[in-house]
Amino acid sequence: MKQVDPKRISGIKIARGVRRQVKADVAQFKETYQVTPKLTAVLVGDDPASQTYVNTKEKTCKRLGMDSEVIRLPADTIEDHLLGIVRELNEEKTNHGILVQLPLPQHIQTDAVIRAIDPDKDVDGFHPDNIVGLQQNRDCLRPCTPLGCVTLLEEAIGNLSGQYAVIVGRSDIVGKPLYWELLHRQVTPTTCHSKSKPLERYTQEADIVIAATGWPNLITVDHVKDGVVVVDVGINRVDKNDASSQLLEWRRKDFDTKGYTLVGDVDYQAVYEKADKITPVPGGVGPMTIAMLMQNTLKAASLQVSDYKK
Ligand code: NDP
Repeated sequence: MKQVDPKRISGIKIARGVRRQVKADVAQFKETYQVTPKLTAVLVGDDPASQTYVNTKEKTCKRLGMDSEVIRLPADTIEDHLLGIVRELNEEKTNHGILVQLPLPQHIQTDAVIRAIDPDKDVDGFHPDNIVGLQQNRDCLRPCTPLGCVTLLEEAIGNLSGQYAVIVGRSDIVGKPLYWELLHRQVTPTTCHSKSKPLERYTQEADIVIAATGWPNLITVDHVKDGVVVVDVGINRVDKNDASSQLLEWRRKDFDTKGYTLVGDVDYQAVYEKADKITPVPGGVGPMTIAMLMQNTLKAASLQVSDYKK
């Protein structure tokens, strides 16, 4: 039998548990309200990574008993047309969640599209109403990756109250919402970014380090203290010929036939030695993000079933 590594936080396993719960809740929801939750994803253009993400989301929805649809639009779709589709989806009673896959082509203002989504259908949790809701700790739709990070942390180490956490990265989709998720769990969070120098001044003090920068191996063994808990959000495609892959000798077997592999922002092998717990890439935060999207789709449906509203 395969040995379980107690240091390694398996996002795959935790996400499986979340999905199992969502599936059971969906069945209960359908029985109670005679309504099947539905997620509609809108994909503009043919970016291969975005296509893969959207296909996975569609398949997972169906596996959990929810309906799902993907609206595929050409890369030269004009903003007004996309806004029209979002407004139609807002009105459609049988559709409960709207996900506009990012990034959008440059000629479309992402902000305008996000604002057009009905906040009760905003399963990504990016609408300004939901951002304020998160800051005020209201029951609202919240961004999936930060929610995935805190769910994973709570599963791995229990109550987070009293911990000092350093988040490296301040994007609107990960770093900033994560700050609030942690704060509401009685954590003391600090947010670092590219101007936080030297970075180790902050990270070395942290009980929990969460890296979300998009830079392979940014967090090294010198950035962390003994016994740290590390969550690696980064997903970076590394070419075996890149300088950054020098630290990846131990992962040679993972490079695909084209010479690429996926790594996080943390020098996993070295940091692992010092850490109490650490998430791998792949198999850490990634599966949690999709599981949280499923949870949000059911939540969105709940918000829209009138007698379910408080
Ligand atoms: P962004 O590029 O939007 O933000 C990156 C952040 O990292 C910025 O705040 C930037 O600082 C900071 N940063 C960059 N370099 C440094 C540095 N040397 N030291 C400290 N901070 C630095 O990225 P995202 O938040 O969208 O994504 C981050 C990573 O997470 C990516 O690898 C992405 O693929 C991955 N990701 C994974 C998800 C998952 O489901 N697992 C979901 C979403 C993202 P500044 O603001 O000063 O520029």
